[in-house]
Amino acid sequence: MQVDYIIVGLGLAGLAFIKELDVNNKSYIVFEDNSQNSSVVAGGMYNPVILKRFTAVWNAVDQLDLALPFYKAFEKQFNKKYNYSLDIYRIFKSVEEQNNWFEACDNPLLTKYMIPKLITKNFEGIRAKYGYGKLTNTGRIDTKALLEDYRNYLSAKKLIRYESFKYSELEIYDKNVSYQEISALKIVFCEGFGLKKNPFFKYLPMQEAKGELLTIHAPDLNVNFLIKAAVFVLPLGNNFFKVGATFNWKDKTKFPSKEGKQELKTKLESFVTAPYKIVEHIAGIRPTVKDRRPLVGTHAKYQNLAILNGLGTRGVMIAPMAAKALYKHLENGSALDKEISIARFQ
Ligand SMILES: Cc1cc2nc3c(=O)[nH]c(=O)nc-3n(C[C@H](O)[C@H](O)[C@H](O)COP(=O)(O)OP(=O)(O)OC[C@H]3O[C@@H](n4cnc5c(N)ncnc54)[C@H](O)[C@@H]3O)c2cc1C
Repeated sequence: MQVDYIIVGLGLAGLAFIKELDVNNKSYIVFEDNSQNSSVVAGGMYNPVILKRFTAVWNAVDQLDLALPFYKAFEKQFNKKYNYSLDIYRIFKSVEEQNNWFEACDNPLLTKYMIPKLITKNFEGIRAKYGYGKLTNTGRIDTKALLEDYRNYLSAKKLIRYESFKYSELEIYDKNVSYQEISALKIVFCEGFGLKKNPFFKYLPMQEAKGELLTIHAPDLNVNFLIKAAVFVLPLGNNFFKVGATFNWKDKTKFPSKEGKQELKTKLESFVTAPYKIVEHIAGIRPTVKDRRPLVGTHAKYQNLAILNGLGTRGVMIAPMAAKALYKHLENGSALDKEISIARFQ
């Protein structure tokens, strides 16, 4: 079997790179072993404002310019909705925070998103003594549904193998690589936290950040926007909400924990007074990097081995931009932005 690319891992990183391959009529085969699930459990939010400090996310506007049409193309391809517009209401903790909000609204990068008004309306079941700041033009991608649909699509075309990629069986030559009976011009590794097992790239400084999420049913909570305070409460419809997420820098498993659940409940109850029932508890590991930038580039010695990883806490927005940059680098020799290139760690 001869292909242009082997792709290892089908989370948001793999999906974004495959999209580049599809658009450019390149052939590929994908390996996926379900050892990680960050993209499947993700809240899926896109929002260009850091909600702690009210500053702009790195390159957010450019990222969104690419990301929104990227997800729209899948909606067209599968005739299904994945992108749900969702305003965000940030609960203020103090008068000082209210003032910071108004200052931040002057940032020309953020005027499209931050509403320069204090929302004081009372919503039943929510405690917000200092009111809310509202963000608009934000939303959620149903990453789970999108990835499921894409996997089915690849399965039907026999372009995906549900098995672990065995690094020791990869043979590397000057102009191609071979793996079992497959010969490919290049291989792109998109394993998320699975990177830790990759002998070619595991030297890169990935700081895994485990996150846990609850799904709750709260019949008396009637809001159609995302509430952000100690945790976020994201409406899924019919009074179901996702609540998350925790950050744990020590636990390297993708399994939900008792401590994670308790933390989410405590934080949720600090501002939601409506009764609720937990219907699901999930976890995953965010592949984050110390400098909060993606890991993109080729191996220092083997130019036909590439990596697309380090999407961190914002894979929904970053993946399409990082994938496009990698594709142009591999196919056209375009230089990678120093901020995302793995050359910064060599
Ligand atoms: C709780 C939580 C909430 C989040 N919320 C948001 C959010 O609201 N908005 C946002 O933008 N981001 C969010 N994120 C972050 C986002 O999920 C990540 O940035 C993104 O999903 C990372 O994608 P990835 O493809 O790099 O990794 P992954 O999704 O982990 O995908 C890697 C894939 O590679 C496969 N794999 C690994 N090793 C091998 C191997 N040897 N052989 C075959 N397959 C292999 C794995 O099974 C996996 O499917 C959240 C993450 C978590 C955990």
